[in-house]
Amino acid sequence: MLKQLSLWLALSAVLSGLATAADYAEFTTPGLAKAQITHSDIAPLITYYKEQDWLEVTELGRSVEQRPIYLIKIGDGERKVLAWSQMHGDEPTATAAIFDLLAVIEAQQKQQAATGEGGPAWLDDISLYLIPMLNPDGAERNSRFNALGIDVNRDALALQTPEGQLLMQAAKKIKPHYGFNLHDQNRYHGAGDNKKPATISLLAPAYNEAREINPSRHAAMQLVSAVKPLLDNALPEQLGRYNDEYSIRSFGDTFSGMGISTVLVESGGQYNDPFRQQARQINVQLYLSWLEMISTGRYRDFDLSGYNSIPMNNSGGMKDLIISNINLPQADGSGVLARVDLAFTAGGNGRGQAVLDEIGDASIYGGYHTLDASGMNYSPGKAYPLTGPLSLSAEKYLQLLADGYSHFSGEAGLLTNSSGLPVAINPRGVNKPWPQRRSTSTFLLSKDSAVQLAVVNGRLIRLADASLLDAFSGN
Ligand SMILES: [Zn+2]
Repeated sequence: MLKQLSLWLALSAVLSGLATAADYAEFTTPGLAKAQITHSDIAPLITYYKEQDWLEVTELGRSVEQRPIYLIKIGDGERKVLAWSQMHGDEPTATAAIFDLLAVIEAQQKQQAATGEGGPAWLDDISLYLIPMLNPDGAERNSRFNALGIDVNRDALALQTPEGQLLMQAAKKIKPHYGFNLHDQNRYHGAGDNKKPATISLLAPAYNEAREINPSRHAAMQLVSAVKPLLDNALPEQLGRYNDEYSIRSFGDTFSGMGISTVLVESGGQYNDPFRQQARQINVQLYLSWLEMISTGRYRDFDLSGYNSIPMNNSGGMKDLIISNINLPQADGSGVLARVDLAFTAGGNGRGQAVLDEIGDASIYGGYHTLDASGMNYSPGKAYPLTGPLSLSAEKYLQLLADGYSHFSGEAGLLTNSSGLPVAINPRGVNKPWPQRRSTSTFLLSKDSAVQLAVVNGRLIRLADASLLDAFSGN
């Protein structure tokens, strides 16, 4: 393990190479690779770290519902760094990364104890303060807001939430030179016009409407420039810059105004990575790089050109599923009326039902899942009436789809679905010959009169092998 550790640290230290997934696995805190991380997930970790002597874990205070909020302190150096995660309860990626960072530091400490070298070089210069999961009540509900329904990150001025009060008190007491505001962004943010997800977005928040650059914001921008090579290497074309419009009620902007060099880190979507494990790993590398560069002052060698060259986030630039080049039939079913792309995202807070939100030319978007349906014809499909109890095996269902039935009508309780595939009962948007924006997510695609694909509540069934593509899971 120590050999792998040195290899990994050597790699991340030069910033030119990247740790492999296997290297990182050594420091991945178990049990946190999931969509929702709650207080009960971190409680045993807190208990464990409370007993270690190389860090201090204290209770900073309590949430509205009396869940403990913790402050972790490592090192006793002059430069003070404060990082906090999950002030939005449904944004857990950085909480996992903070515990992975602790695992790395612990391994380094053990190596130092065993061999007299290999300890974290930054420890002499930095006092690192970490608040993992500032909003445990929101985490419990998988909600952005606290238990009062308040967005803690819009409470920096009013300070009506205990969570916001605790963060402000900590900042005033610690007086950090550097702040790291750790969030998740929705997976529909693209990195500029790259048609790729912004897996990481960074920002040195403005401290006034004019978005001026004072020395403290300048330093935050340099910190971003300094890690751009690492990110360009790890995530080619998948780094974005978050909108820097001044937000007077937000903590990042308020801290920036207090002279704290603040960096916003937003973890975002990635292909085939529903729980954002790559963003989690890169977060750890970012933290280690920043600690090293704050300790040595090396980030001051970077100008703002790196920061300024990061493409802005493209909100809505990514879709969950894009099916392109679908032939829409004439109203009487003869010939092709138009050829369109259909682009879907999940509704609500990014989880759940598919929503058709673009019909037409979707070529400007990137898709987490894409399918070229050239030569295939759209049909809403027929309704199979539920007139009595129906036990639906996979074989029976595939036959119905092949016969042109896309959905069922009638009493849902009559259907026992044992096919392992999704079914649509009385879906919207099937009463028109063409797909309906915001409404259609169930239809059939045929080639030479043979049904090839069924889209059922936005989930794609390939009839040839009964395979299912579920494009809407994850964060
Ligand atoms: Zn957030």
